[in-house]
Amino acid sequence: MDKFKNKDCIFCKIVAGEIPAEKIYEDDDLFAFLDITPINAGHTLLIPKKHYENIFEMDDEILKKISIKLRDLGTSVKGAMKAGGLNIGMNNSPVAGQVVPHAHFHLIPRYLKDGHKHWEGRKYKEGEITKVAGEIRGKVR
Ligand code: 5GP
Ligand code: ZN
Repeated sequence: MDKFKNKDCIFCKIVAGEIPAEKIYEDDDLFAFLDITPINAGHTLLIPKKHYENIFEMDDEILKKISIKLRDLGTSVKGAMKAGGLNIGMNNSPVAGQVVPHAHFHLIPRYLKDGHKHWEGRKYKEGEITKVAGEIRGKVR
């Protein structure tokens, strides 16, 4: 895997076994381990072994594999932790809260009244939603 490794990356080091982690799953392309500062116990990170910085760099085949594994691993995490639900999330770029620059998906077991807060939405201004939808539609490939 070394040709895929970024020498300064903490998650590449975890994949290589150079930094210890509680491994949950591994195959040729993917690796999953427990987050060291969980929102709830069982909070798991699923990552590609190859160093992609974020989702925008990831190729189709890896993304397909990851989405299927998110479902299957998510089922296992939720079941093992007897959770009522599961958040699957990904932060892309520091401005979006990404701290570790190696693409990773969070699988977070959730419980009624576990105290974890979701983001709060805001209302669109008059006419704004139509304008915004047009701007995004203009970029859709
Ligand atoms: P981000 O904010 O980049 O989406 O999330 C990074 C996550 O990686 C955080 O939830 C953090 O707790 C976790 N993390 C950071 N360093 C380590 C580490 O050395 N080991 C493990 N297991 N998790 C880590
Ligand atoms: Zn990396």
